[in-house]
Amino acid sequence: MESRSDIVDLRSDTVTQPTAAMRQAMLHAEVGDDVYGEDPTVNALQARVAKDLGFEAALWCPTGTQANLVALLAHGARGDEYLVGMEAHTYKYEGGGAAVLGSIQPQPIPQADDGTMDLAAVERAIKPVDPHFARTRLLCLENTWMGRALPLDYLAAARALCDRRGLALHLDGARLYNAALASNVAPRAITRHVDSVSVCLSKGLGAPAGSVLAGSAQLIDAAKRWRKVCGGGLRQAGILAAAGLHALDHHVARLADDHARAARLAEGLRDAASIRVDACHTNMVFIEVSADRLQALAAHLDAHGIRASIGYLPQVRLVTHLDIDDAGIDRAIDAFHSFK
Ligand SMILES: *Cc1c(COP(=O)(O)O)cnc(C)c1O
Repeated sequence: MESRSDIVDLRSDTVTQPTAAMRQAMLHAEVGDDVYGEDPTVNALQARVAKDLGFEAALWCPTGTQANLVALLAHGARGDEYLVGMEAHTYKYEGGGAAVLGSIQPQPIPQADDGTMDLAAVERAIKPVDPHFARTRLLCLENTWMGRALPLDYLAAARALCDRRGLALHLDGARLYNAALASNVAPRAITRHVDSVSVCLSKGLGAPAGSVLAGSAQLIDAAKRWRKVCGGGLRQAGILAAAGLHALDHHVARLADDHARAARLAEGLRDAASIRVDACHTNMVFIEVSADRLQALAAHLDAHGIRASIGYLPQVRLVTHLDIDDAGIDRAIDAFHSFK
């Protein structure tokens, strides 16, 4: 069996190991009971994210799923609904949490290849105020989506629609910092359009756990209550928040390396037989293989110590991250080239 360090794991940017420096930061974190609001490291992280992203307040959550869930619960109530992309994480990949735990129904809307929902279709899906219908409260966007950054003018148009129709706007910004880098803007240029945003510290930023939800003080108050109800009131969470602060200090600018390596991987795969590069955006490459070759590809990659995300989507997904270096990209390119 190969050791972990021999494996080039391109399944997701969630697979990273905390760096030695990050572990040091965690080791030395000042902590307190965060349910009492007394963890200085959690408080520092929350204040920093709120300020950086332009909100009154923020809330650390153990996972992105929980950050999105408590946002939906804080924005909506039983009998409300949110408008959301049919392929969006908050709709499709979070176990239906808003409906299961909040009695908030999703209204899924088809998405174009770039992840956007046609805003005219979004507007048509807003229900009239009438006892027949759920109360439409919220539009939920995702950025990046399949690695793509949402166009900034689309965010502005979505904001205008929400203002005109009295909806709140939540952004699942699990990879917000990748989106900002790809759009060549500060994260604030994206978040200024939304009422709340969740960002993951445990994806490209490389922390072992944690997401932050940012919004108005009132929304974050409500979300904090829901976080406790959901079992997410951690005590000395500063151990984990310290990793998040370290990531914000040291792992944001280097996302450019992940984007460059993804581009080099995509370029290196263009002339490989038996596969077709479908898309490459930020830190993600998607490739197509005929369905009857998928199992063979999985076995071939396995034999070469390469891991890819196979079977969740029609495409094979390859994601670059903190633990993928140039040599790893070369090995992946070679492995795909020797697949016939
Ligand atoms: C990863 C992710 C989340 C949150 O996932 P967790 O695994 O619960 O942290 C939410 N939205 C998107 C788009 C994601 O990629």
